[in-house]
Amino acid sequence: MSEENLNYFEIQKYDTEILSFQKEISAIEEKLKEQMGLEELKQKLSMIQNKIEEQEKIQRKILTSIKENEESINNINTTIYSGKIRNNKELEALQIEINTKTEFISNIDPKKQIVANNIIKLIGIKENAELKIIDTEDKWVLEEQKLFKQKKSLSQKIELNISSKKNISAKLDKNILNLYENFLSISGGVGIGKLENNKCSSCKIELPNAFVEKIKSSENPIICNCGKSLISE
Ligand SMILES: [Zn+2]
Repeated sequence: MSEENLNYFEIQKYDTEILSFQKEISAIEEKLKEQMGLEELKQKLSMIQNKIEEQEKIQRKILTSIKENEESINNINTTIYSGKIRNNKELEALQIEINTKTEFISNIDPKKQIVANNIIKLIGIKENAELKIIDTEDKWVLEEQKLFKQKKSLSQKIELNISSKKNISAKLDKNILNLYENFLSISGGVGIGKLENNKCSSCKIELPNAFVEKIKSSENPIICNCGKSLISE
């Protein structure tokens, strides 16, 4: 193979590396975005907080209505023992009212316990979530530094490859180089292939003898029959 043609394969080696470095950078950027699930944990925490507030609201409602009913019963009792009751009918009505309110209190009382238990459970979950966030934040500080470092080193490697590529490219035919770049970006990694047993190593198509001769005698890489890459001996 002529020196000129070898150069294209050298460039392709750098490009292949660049592509793999870029893939690694994308994976790192994904991790930087995920932040070890911190955002998700914070959302979960605020959801738990909302649930606690909901239960506390219910708790306040229950306690208020128990208190109101108890006060009402006390007032009725005061009335009954005040000596102002004129007849049995009036007394009976007041006793019915007391019974209704007493029943209301005894019905709602177990709910008070249930809500209180819910709140205790939720506070436990909240505390765990908070600990997990603190722990993850600690870990994330180091992880983020590590990821930035890795990203920077990969970017530097890419820069190095680009400058090596430039040095070689300067010596080559601009038109062929453009073809190579186009094929590389279309195929996502192969701009030039080698002739191997009369086949193009990138498309694996067996080439006719006349074309093989043309490739072998050419000083420069030429477009393969597949039309998707350059080919050289
Ligand atoms: Zn081909």
